[in-house]
Amino acid sequence: MTGQRPRAIIVGIGTECSSFAPHRTTLADFGIRTGDRVLERFPAVPSGHVREVDFVPGPVARALPGGPVLRAAYDALLQQVLDAVRAGAPWDGVLLDIHGAMLVEGMSDVEADLARRVREAAGGAEVVMAAAMDLHGQVSREFVRCVELPTCYRTAPHVDEPETRDRAARLLARALTSGVRPARAWCRIPVALPGEKTSTRVEPAASLYRSLADPPEGVWESALWVGYAWADEARTSAAAVVVGEDACAIQRECGRVAEQFVASRDDFAFCGPTGSLPWALDAAEAAPDGPFFISDTGDNPTAGGSGDVATTLDALVADQRVTEGAGDAVWSALVDPGGVQAARQIGVGGAFDEEVGGCFGWPARARLTGVVDRLADDCSGEVAVIRLGRLQVVLTSRRRPFHTVGDYARVGVDLARTRLVINKIGYLEPELEEVSRGWVMALTEGPVDQRIGDLRFEHVGHPLHPFDPLDHGWRADVEVFDAAQ
Ligand SMILES: [Zn+2]
Repeated sequence: MTGQRPRAIIVGIGTECSSFAPHRTTLADFGIRTGDRVLERFPAVPSGHVREVDFVPGPVARALPGGPVLRAAYDALLQQVLDAVRAGAPWDGVLLDIHGAMLVEGMSDVEADLARRVREAAGGAEVVMAAAMDLHGQVSREFVRCVELPTCYRTAPHVDEPETRDRAARLLARALTSGVRPARAWCRIPVALPGEKTSTRVEPAASLYRSLADPPEGVWESALWVGYAWADEARTSAAAVVVGEDACAIQRECGRVAEQFVASRDDFAFCGPTGSLPWALDAAEAAPDGPFFISDTGDNPTAGGSGDVATTLDALVADQRVTEGAGDAVWSALVDPGGVQAARQIGVGGAFDEEVGGCFGWPARARLTGVVDRLADDCSGEVAVIRLGRLQVVLTSRRRPFHTVGDYARVGVDLARTRLVINKIGYLEPELEEVSRGWVMALTEGPVDQRIGDLRFEHVGHPLHPFDPLDHGWRADVEVFDAAQ
């Protein structure tokens, strides 16, 4: 640096992909932020709280989790990112704003490829790179060799997203203004856990993540990734990365985090009452009032489900406790553009009788016979609500989650007047948790089936809990990297 303020560019391509989802993520599925819309993701940056560095927004692309990304889509987005980086190169720093669990057809360890290509375009070995990630991201050795300052959320559900991005910006600013290139310690933690067993609202994840907040002397940042269990690739696992100036301190802290995680592996349990769908429906029937929530966990679109799995619907339409129960029930949602079009042609009040489900290729379909109750159209696409007695079935033209009271209100469902809500979701998002009068999780089939031990993995590295036994008294094998490699 020559006395000028250091410059850093923010770029990223981020999503989370299940190997088991028939859906493919296309270029059209990505939203691309630029300019102020990137900076608003980093509250401390535009408000001047990270004053020492000029952060320049480049393109940041993000898509809803789903199936693997088409290679042509990744190539097109990468080109856009590299063009922006090259246009202002050389940079002092790069801040990657990414999720970290992207799959691209025909590639492995995509984020390591992205980081290497961006570093090359930004100016090579001299550039300092940071990354703000989701704790469900994957962190391979190759990624950490390239990125000096990776960090991730400390909460799931993720209520600390802006703070995490700001923390990454501050770490980068610290490195750029002090001239110190911190070392980082990395450890693959040989454990794969579904997200619903690692909520930080409950133990042992609560204590593990709390222990990162106050790192020992010589440590800048202590970060722990749970990883993403539904990706069938070599890097799939939890991981710890600890960054700082003191090589011994970071190695020790990284080992501590990894060993504590492994020692707790059998204590991770579903973060709520969990069982089969029939069991969940029994629990709903016994509940005194609503709304009672059942998470239909196997096809949760925000965890990588395709949204086209109709297995639960098949069970609901056959259950008179649901279709003729004491109050209204709603199932959300099935992506079925054909079903939505059919409902629009039939019109409100008309009889609907269609096979639905499997629009991306999931084999289970269901016969849906009812009445077109409502049609809606908003920025997330078209919606048709089909009614069978007390059950309302939400069909959507595009993949979309139902995470808030407003998401339901926009399709004409008043949760306060609904007795039973069956939702393709995992743990309840905060707003739904607030209105729920009871909640259970149903273990259902789909691309993000929580019973990962039953799924067919072919490419993961071993050993990996729960597929392999780990040695009693497992000790962390920590690697330390200094300059960018
Ligand atoms: Zn996540």
